Parts: sequence; structure tokens; C-alpha cells
Amino acid sequence: MRGVKAHRPETRWATRTIPFVLAGCIGFATYVIIQRICLDYFLFSWQQPTIAFTLLGFYCVFLVLMILTYFRVFFAIQLNPGVVPLGPKADEQTNTRRRDRRRRRRTGGRRRSHTGSEDDVEGDLEAAISYEVRPDDNPDSPGLEEFYSKDVFVCDTDGRPRWCSTCCNWKPDRAHHCSEIDRCVRKMDHYCPWVGGIVGETSFNYFVQFTFYTASCCLVLIVAAALCLQSLASRGSPVDGLVIAVLAISSFFGLFTFTMTATSIRYILLNLTNVDYLKSKSIVHQLAVRVPRGTPPGINYGIISYPLPKSTDEQSELTSLRDQLATRTFAIIKTEMGENPWELGPYRNWKSVMGNTIWDWVLPIRGSPCASFENNESFYEMGPLYPRLRERFGLPELNVVKEASERKEFEKRKERQASGTHTQDS
Ligand SMILES: [Zn+2]
Repeated sequence: MRGVKAHRPETRWATRTIPFVLAGCIGFATYVIIQRICLDYFLFSWQQPTIAFTLLGFYCVFLVLMILTYFRVFFAIQLNPGVVPLGPKADEQTNTRRRDRRRRRRTGGRRRSHTGSEDDVEGDLEAAISYEVRPDDNPDSPGLEEFYSKDVFVCDTDGRPRWCSTCCNWKPDRAHHCSEIDRCVRKMDHYCPWVGGIVGETSFNYFVQFTFYTASCCLVLIVAAALCLQSLASRGSPVDGLVIAVLAISSFFGLFTFTMTATSIRYILLNLTNVDYLKSKSIVHQLAVRVPRGTPPGINYGIISYPLPKSTDEQSELTSLRDQLATRTFAIIKTEMGENPWELGPYRNWKSVMGNTIWDWVLPIRGSPCASFENNESFYEMGPLYPRLRERFGLPELNVVKEASERKEFEKRKERQASGTHTQDS
């Protein structure tokens, strides 16, 4: 898949190296806990089979689950990272950026080192223009229909969906542009070199399972190492360096993954991602909310109608009846600061990411329901804020059934007319 690898060499290097470091740490810790702590010390030397087998049992279960979830999250990221497709102009844009980068390399970063020459200013201007690809003004812009066929979507001030000038495409609700891989990612959480790339809606549940089982593995290792060191001390035996090393490694990774698990669970319960959380207190969502066809602008909201008019003349003339009936009108409204339209309540938030059954919560089998959410209303399930917003702005009730039946009636009439003309002709 093109363009889903990190573009910074140091990030790519870290992403490739870290799995081997992790594998080395796991291999070492596994050897020490199984061979050294459980078998050599507890079972053979100190004749304490209960402790030996309990530790072994817990460790092996968590180790297997950790490895399974690791591979699940790793392959989810490699095979389906949930990136938004690039728009038709993205190739052009990428080529311009590459050309600019090459030119900058040739001039040896002259533009940055000394400013003021006309050549540099011109270059900067050109770069600024080529980087800023404006939203597609074509009323039939590819992908636009996916937005206005919903009843509500996140929009810009003009009522059109948000636009990513790097991907040259419309941004679906809750997608963010990741500068590491230079792509928009659905429900992007963070770039994680530990699991091989971008964590988003297709991998977040597996990621949480992975950090949870790693933290559990580390906890078993910490307990085993502590018990072992305590027994060694009480018997007056010398301290075992390998056990100390395992204690240090497991404490480090344990603390790291425990914190990660706790924060991730918190985000899930609030229906936020890492990226959302950073601005959750100050964000104001702008939404295009469908209202009955032809609703005029209100005192506190603007209006946009789709499909967008092809030209201003056509807009004033109002084209054929068919087009009028296919029109969908949206009110452009804003939430209060910090409101989250997708907040469903902790339990439903949890289920939307982790799955509907306990098996989905503990085993890396099925993807998150929110990633496969199919609905005519919105990209993601809307919470109780949505009807409250309609009420707050006094938006007229949407009569979907009436609009659909009007359209059906019109289509039928057209068909009857067409077949009538056809019979007359023959
Ligand atoms: Zn983007």
C-alpha cells in the first residue's frame, strides 16, 4: 500500500528495529522465568511445585495472548491501517513536493540558511502555493456524495466537508491527517513504532488488548522475580543478576504498558481518541445537519444544498424537477466548546470499540464495530447530543418518508410518461 510508511527515516528505522528489541526482551524474560525461576529454583532446588506451576501457568497464558494480540495489531496496521484514499490530485501534489525537496537538497538548504534573495522568496512562494491544494470546487467532486447522502456530517464553515490539502481529498468525520505517514487516518489514535505503525480505528481494540496482556505478563514477571529474590535472600544465597535484570526490564515495560492501557481505556469510555483528547476541552464541532428540502437559513444557522449548483445561473434558475427532488438541504451548526457528538455513554462507547461480547473484549478476533458502522444517518453512531442540537437550533423536523415518497412518485410518473410516449411512437 503506497504512502502508509513513515516518511521520516528515523521513524522508519525505529519501526523496523523495535520489534526485534521487543522479541529479544521477551525471549530473555521467558528463559529466566521458566528455566531459572520456576524450574531451577522453585521446583528443583526449593521443592515448591505450587508456586512454580502457578507462576508458569499465568505467565504462559498471558505470553500467548500477548503474542497473539501483537501479531493481530501488527498485521491490522500493515494490511488495513484505515487510511482515507488519496484524491485524484494527490499524485501531482506528491510529485511537486518531491521536486521541491530535491531542489532544496541541490541548493543545500540555501533557502533556510540565508534569506532575502529574490530567488529564495520566489521558491518559498511556489512551495506555499503547490502545498496548499484548495478544496475541489467541482460540484461533482469525487467522494462528495458520500457525505451529503448522510443526514449529518462534520463540515467546514461553508458547509462542505473538511478538506485535506495533502491527501487532496475530503476528510470523513473523525479522520485526522497523520504527519508521520502523510495520510489521513480514520479515528487516528497515534503513531506507534512499538506495534509497527499508525494505530487507528481498525487496530485500536487489538492495541489495547496487546498493552493489557503485556502489562499482565510484566506483572507476573515482577511477582516471580520478587518472590525469587526474597527466597534467595532468606536462604542467604547470592543475588542472581539475571533475575534482577528481568525485574528491571519488566518494571520498565510494565509501567509503560500499564499507563498506556489505563489511558486507552479512558479514551474508549469517553469515545475519544488520543488526538481528540488533546483538544477535547476546547474543540467546537461544526456539523451539516439535514433539514427538510428548501428550508431557509435561520437566525443562528446557515444553509447549504447538495448536489452543489454547477454555476450561479443554474442556481437561480433551479433546474429540472428531478434535480429539485434530489436536493438535500443541510443546516450548518456548531456545538458548544468541548461537546462530543459521538459520546454514547461509557458502556456503548466501550462496545463500539471493543465489540459486543466478552470474547471480543478479551480475544483479538473481530474488529471494532465502529470501524464497520454502516448507516445512512452518519459516519459514526451519533450520541444524544445530536437530537439535542436539532432542538437547540430549532431545526425543522426532517420528514424522510415524505421526501422519499415524493421522489418515488415523481420517478413513477416519469416512467409512466416515458412508456406512454414509447407506445405512441410505436
Ligand atoms: Zn490527509
